[in-house]
Amino acid sequence: GTTMIHLKTKEEVELLRENNLLVSATLAEVGRHVRPGVTTKELDALAEEFIRSHGAVPGFLGYGNPPFPATLCMSVNEYVVHGIPSGYVLKNGDIVSVDCGTVMKGFYGDSAYTFAVGEVSSEVGKLLQVTKEALYKGVAQAKAGNRIGDISAAVQSYAESNGFSVVRELVGHGLGRNMHEEPEVPNYGIRGRGPILKEGMVICIEPMINMGTKHVVFEQDGWTVCTRDRKPSAHFEFAVAITKDGPDV
Ligand code: MG
Ligand code: MG
Repeated sequence: GTTMIHLKTKEEVELLRENNLLVSATLAEVGRHVRPGVTTKELDALAEEFIRSHGAVPGFLGYGNPPFPATLCMSVNEYVVHGIPSGYVLKNGDIVSVDCGTVMKGFYGDSAYTFAVGEVSSEVGKLLQVTKEALYKGVAQAKAGNRIGDISAAVQSYAESNGFSVVRELVGHGLGRNMHEEPEVPNYGIRGRGPILKEGMVICIEPMINMGTKHVVFEQDGWTVCTRDRKPSAHFEFAVAITKDGPDV
């Protein structure tokens, strides 16, 4: 099939950078408030206020069908991604994936970070560490002349060599005037396959790594994704521009 990949000008990359820096600042602000006793809905309200006070609009609010009802996707423990903030009270030992989007000046920001709540088990700590490192393995492959499959294979081999599994049903994506553009960026695949990376492409790399089975289930709310065996899952995401000087996170 044909793919329509929008290459960005330097000016457009800078607008994407503004958005993604705001997303990063929002995640840091949320992270400062992640602790046992706080609800995911309280953290969501704080993020919405932070984003709007910086002149942007939450990128996920109202997105999709059914319309996503919140600013953040907050996915606790066995929830993989797209969890809806609620009255759930975070407790010691939980992990919470926080995925955040913004829209400002016609472009999107989109990044995610999984936080530990208090003290987590060493096994869960390793899941967080390996998932974050898998993201960096993918980023290192995000250079002009490489292919999407080089990113995919780097993420997959790192996660699996550490004993974890890679979610198949959800993938990374191009980012620009739309939150989800081509190309798809799977977290599994084969080196040397897929679209060639070119200067001006901006992609979100977002490994979703499970402690147990790779299989997931989609819940009745139309959004929430959960591991089939209910073991924990972690998720980290960066937006990366392909430049002649290498990956620009
Ligand atoms: Mg995201
Ligand atoms: Mg994304």
